[in-house]
Amino acid sequence: MSNIPYKIWFNGKFVPWDEANVHTLTHTLHYGLAVFEGIRAYKCDDNRSAVFRLKEHVDRLYSSAHIANIKIPFTKEQTTEAILELLSINELDAAYIRPIAYIGSGKIGLHPGDNPIELAIAAYPWGTYLGEGALSKGITTKISSLTRMGVNSFMTKAKISGNYVNSVMAKVEATSLGFDEAILLDNEGYVAEGSGENIFIFRNGVLKTPPLTSVLEGITRDAVIQIAKEEGLNFEAERFTRDELYIADEAFFTGTAAEITPIREVDKRTIGQGKPGPITKKLQSRFFDIVQGRDPKYIDWLEFFFTTTPLKVKNESL
Ligand code: PMP
Repeated sequence: MSNIPYKIWFNGKFVPWDEANVHTLTHTLHYGLAVFEGIRAYKCDDNRSAVFRLKEHVDRLYSSAHIANIKIPFTKEQTTEAILELLSINELDAAYIRPIAYIGSGKIGLHPGDNPIELAIAAYPWGTYLGEGALSKGITTKISSLTRMGVNSFMTKAKISGNYVNSVMAKVEATSLGFDEAILLDNEGYVAEGSGENIFIFRNGVLKTPPLTSVLEGITRDAVIQIAKEEGLNFEAERFTRDELYIADEAFFTGTAAEITPIREVDKRTIGQGKPGPITKKLQSRFFDIVQGRDPKYIDWLEFFFTTTPLKVKNESL
C-alpha cells in the first residue's frame, strides 16, 4: 500500500490510488496502443486555481484517439468534467493531470477486436520536471543517438504510448551519460525535439522552431509562438541543423511538464552566455504570468476551479 491519498478517475468512478490497476493481458501493455495527455493546473491568486488550455488538451486526446482508431467511450464534455471533479475531490490547487485511454484485456492477438476501451485519469502534485534550478539556470543536453520516428512509421501528431519508447530510450541514454535531456534529430538529420518537449532557438534576431512534421504539435509551443508574435519577435517555423543550434544565441524547450526550460549546453558546447538569455527569460515570465492568471489577455486559456484546503503529501514526484 502506498498511502497516496489521491483518487483516480477510472471508467467513470473515483477509486483509491492503489486500486486503479490493470490485468497483465491488457492489449495496450503488450503492443503500446494507448493515447494520453499531460496537463497542468496552476495555483493562481486568491483562492483560485486554473487548468492551462484544458480544451486544447482534451481536443488533442480525442484527435490522438481518432488517429489511433480508439473510440473513447466518454464524450469530451464528460472527460473535461471528470478532470475538474478529480482536482476538486483530490483537493489539489496545483497538479499534473494524466488521462490515458487504452485497450483493455480480452483477445491478445494484434487486432484489438472488441476489447474494451478504458479511460483513466490521475491528478497529483508535480514540481519542476527537469530538476532543481532547471527553469532559472538552464539545463545540459545531448544530441541523441536515437532518431525521432519518421512520419510514416509512427503517427507523430498523436500522443500514442508506443511512440514514447523512442523518447524513453533517448532520455535514459542522455541522463546516464550525465546530461539533463536528449535532443532528437529527424530522419533527415535536422533538429526535431526533446524527448518530451518542443525546441526553440533564437539566433540573429529570429526565433525558430522546427515545423510540425515529425514533432508533436505542442500546446506550449503554440502558446509561446502566440506570445512571441505579440512581443513583436520575428518568428519562423523552420528546420535548423545541430550546428545552428550550437551557435544559437539562446535555446529553450517548451512542454507541459518542462514549461519553458532554458538550454545552456548542447553536446558540451555552451549556448550563448551559458545562462538563460533575455528572450527566453521574457517568454518565461510572460508564460508564468499567463498560467498563474496574471495576464487578462490570455484568461481564456484558463479553466478556473476553486480549491478548499489542499491535501498534503510528502512526495511531490510520485
Ligand atoms: N514533444 C513531445 C514528444 C512531447 O511528449 C511533449 C509533451 N506533451 C511535447 C513535445 C510538448 O507538448 P505540450 O506543450 O503540448 O505539452
